[in-house]
Amino acid sequence: MKSTAHIFKYKTKIALKNVNLQNALARSKSHFIDKRRAAVNALPEFNRLRQRACEIKEHTLAHLDFYLEYFETQVHNSGGYVHWADTPQAACEQIVSICQATKAQRVTKGKSMISEEIALNTALELNGIEVTETDLGEYIIQLAKEPPSHIIAPAVHKTREEIANLFYEHHQKYGFTKRLSQIPELVSEARKVLRKKFISADVGITGANFLIAETGSAVIVTNEGNGDLTNTLPRVHIVVASIEKVLPSLEDVATFLRLLARSATGQELTSYTSFSTGPRRPEDLDGPEEFHVVLVDNGRSEMLGNEFHEMLRCIRCGACLNHCPIYSAVGGHAYGWVYPGPMGSVLTPLMLGLDKASSLPHASTLCGRCEEVCPMQIPLPKLLRQLRVKHYQSQGKASFVGLGLKFWAVFAKRPRIYHFMTAIIIRLFARLGNLGIGRNLPRPQGETFMAAWKKRQAKS
Ligand code: SF4
Repeated sequence: MKSTAHIFKYKTKIALKNVNLQNALARSKSHFIDKRRAAVNALPEFNRLRQRACEIKEHTLAHLDFYLEYFETQVHNSGGYVHWADTPQAACEQIVSICQATKAQRVTKGKSMISEEIALNTALELNGIEVTETDLGEYIIQLAKEPPSHIIAPAVHKTREEIANLFYEHHQKYGFTKRLSQIPELVSEARKVLRKKFISADVGITGANFLIAETGSAVIVTNEGNGDLTNTLPRVHIVVASIEKVLPSLEDVATFLRLLARSATGQELTSYTSFSTGPRRPEDLDGPEEFHVVLVDNGRSEMLGNEFHEMLRCIRCGACLNHCPIYSAVGGHAYGWVYPGPMGSVLTPLMLGLDKASSLPHASTLCGRCEEVCPMQIPLPKLLRQLRVKHYQSQGKASFVGLGLKFWAVFAKRPRIYHFMTAIIIRLFARLGNLGIGRNLPRPQGETFMAAWKKRQAKS
């Protein structure tokens, strides 16, 4: 995991100059926003569902130990295994050892942000296991050797030409030697390559949008059907999920499914909603012979009950990214790790350490749109402000910002001197105009707001 503190500003500058990225971001922004708005407007009870979902989540988090143990018992009862992992390293070791125990050489994967978080592909490849991402967007960025730039649309930053070039470069070894240009052709070629991977995989790894305690099931929502081929065809199915994904019952999951697709892609439901419960039973026609669930903590139990607790309600819908003016301007890679946008600006410092991601809580205008659209009513601006406070406090008394604020406080506590000084500064700026210090500021009108307001009061 790399430090993001020093690279955010550098990467934003590059992102702002990247014409392809800017075009892709502009396209995706209106697409996601318009579709979500239409879907939410068509569901009068949307806010009531949000409220209910928050209540369910808070109840589950308050009794997380109970529901996780309940889930574990039900997985055992259905013939599966549960593995607990405190750290990303422990999770990777568990998954690699399951693969090695089954002598797996090839693994297919469904899209999973937790597998990005624990850097699972690297761990598998270091152990000589071939990994193929099967979600089309994930497959594209795997070929490009890039991290996802969006939590639900990982290749949203890629143009059609860039994807065509990637396929031309990487598919020749499979006998596809023609350079393609049309989207249906590209999709068809990827499908042919992936079909062989599905059939030859020894292990299929998926994430989980939700875990259901009462049934021991893992739920994934997809639009491509790749998740079903990943969890059904190989001999072994491994689910990797973080601990806060558990929900008490099937009925509770129904509430979340109605919120998730509408908030993420503006659909009423995604094309596929798949429930995996244990390995194949004797009467089943298909399904894996082994079913494993790896439950990852990675700092989440420390967040339980602390000032960032509300972040554990996140269902990774991506709505906060789509509505964030910063994300819309710079895209996901500028954030430096797997979670971008407002949710990433909270999660990354909590998971990697504030010292490694201190820029991110400042990567926000605090306009509040993220909180407004979040289906789980997570107060993202408040959490970002709390991280800013922590960052400020961690800098100690001698920091540049701290000294600047102290200097400002001397005047702010003395209103007469403050008004006198601001009037002088504003007049100075009005005379000088643009100082040529990086951006063009509008020329001030020559008097302070207070002075203008007093004049207006005197006239009326
Ligand atoms: S913080 Fe809210 S809006 Fe953002 S991904 Fe999580 S649930 Fe969705």
